[in-house]
Amino acid sequence: MDKYEIVIGLEIHAELCTESKLFCNCAYTFGASANDCTCPICLGMPGTLPVINKRALEYAIRAGLAMNCDITTYSKFDRKNYFYPDLPKNYQISQYDLPLCKNGEITFELDGELRTVALRRIHLEEDAGKSIHAEVTGDPTRSFMDFNRAGVPLMEIVSEPEIHSPEEAIAYCRAVKEILEYIEVSDCNMEEGSLRCEPNISLRPKGSKELGTRTEIKNKNSFQELMDAMQYEVKRQARILDSGGEVVQETLLFDANTGKTVAMRGKEEADDYRYFPEPDLVHVQIDDEWIDEIQPSLPELPAERRTRFIQNYDISSENAEFLTTTRQIADFFDEAAHLSKEPSICANWIMGDLSRLLNTAEIEIQDSKVTPAHLSELIQLIKNNTISGKIAKSVLDDAFDTGKMPKQIVEDKGLSQITDTSEIEAIVLQVIEDNPGPAQDVRDGTKKAIGFLVGQVMKATQGKANPQLVNQILNRELSTE
Ligand code: ADP
Ligand code: ZN
Ligand code: MG
Repeated sequence: MDKYEIVIGLEIHAELCTESKLFCNCAYTFGASANDCTCPICLGMPGTLPVINKRALEYAIRAGLAMNCDITTYSKFDRKNYFYPDLPKNYQISQYDLPLCKNGEITFELDGELRTVALRRIHLEEDAGKSIHAEVTGDPTRSFMDFNRAGVPLMEIVSEPEIHSPEEAIAYCRAVKEILEYIEVSDCNMEEGSLRCEPNISLRPKGSKELGTRTEIKNKNSFQELMDAMQYEVKRQARILDSGGEVVQETLLFDANTGKTVAMRGKEEADDYRYFPEPDLVHVQIDDEWIDEIQPSLPELPAERRTRFIQNYDISSENAEFLTTTRQIADFFDEAAHLSKEPSICANWIMGDLSRLLNTAEIEIQDSKVTPAHLSELIQLIKNNTISGKIAKSVLDDAFDTGKMPKQIVEDKGLSQITDTSEIEAIVLQVIEDNPGPAQDVRDGTKKAIGFLVGQVMKATQGKANPQLVNQILNRELSTE
């Protein structure tokens, strides 16, 4: 591998979460009964006419703006002709030479350094349906068609070939996914196929400027599979080149079971598709006013947010990374930090105990009964010595299960710290009396033994005694001076 430079370019397809499909009124729900989400238009019946979904255009423009693209003022759709059983019209409406967005860039972190990858274009096209074969039906003699997905708006984001390792490709894909989630144009659910990352991979001798022959790997639906596929493909190409062979330009499928890529089809050139302007659709003119309307509706993007967390809240870059994993986590943290005025403490709770609870329950932060108000109240209770950090953990557990406010839980369960000195004194004296050995050790100067006695007092008070007071009183009672 030392001889070669890896070159990767990515095509990312994202299904847009519009209410209806790209050219008809059908709503698409993943998992609906086969062919329930169809109409004559998305079934490709002769004589039907497509009408562009304005919201899909808006979403593509949102993505273009978020990724620093130039939004074209004049765009059009084209027919890409090919036959697939799941493509009912025998052509796909896509965009060829006038995509909605051009250029652009994605910036992300890789091994602690910022990397920027240029985008070539973002365009809109319609998704295809799905063929259902024997693996699903158990019947090798027939296949079935489900056209529910046919006509769902797909946005294709195409990068320049300037990514140089599988790790970098994954970081790039994660950054794109994060932006799409933040701007709420796609649910980016990889398992359900709403986000599909297709890497184009080639190798070239180190130092060479010319691109090598590439292969394209189809439809990866998890980052792990994508990683395995790219690593396998890089090695496969290196072996071919090492033995003096030539890489064949083709489209490959990665089989997660065997861990190998297999040829799916020879690579088509644009000519093979006989692209021509879609005659059933008007051209699209995007005026500046529309862009000016969309621009302010964009939220703060993940990278900007990380920088603000680091600068305004004094959060480490690692923690800022975690706290911006999803927009919902970032919103939660922002609000909790604002309410409690204790950003670092909030960060610790969110990344520690709250994450643990969310993971165990397998739910997302936005579905949790614990809200930023809960967390802020919990932190106040610790700050004003009503409860110890340890009790706070159990209060959070309770709030997580019931949704009750921390104050209420502390009240209902009688969890307030005992801060009454005379009450603690009485317990301390009792503990000293019950444990003469350790008490004498402390008097004799074995300071360690005090920990045991503190433990006994905490036990006697179910953790409710204020630890500082307990220490103070024990020290005073056992001092030999
Ligand atoms: P298509 O695959 O539809 O023919 P393009 O030719 O525009 O479309 O390329 C698609 C993707 O392949 C882009 O992301 C581009 O960066 C990448 N790519 C093109 N040539 C190479 C190459 N030699 N090595 C790696 N990636 C490449
Ligand atoms: Zn339809
Ligand atoms: Mg391609």
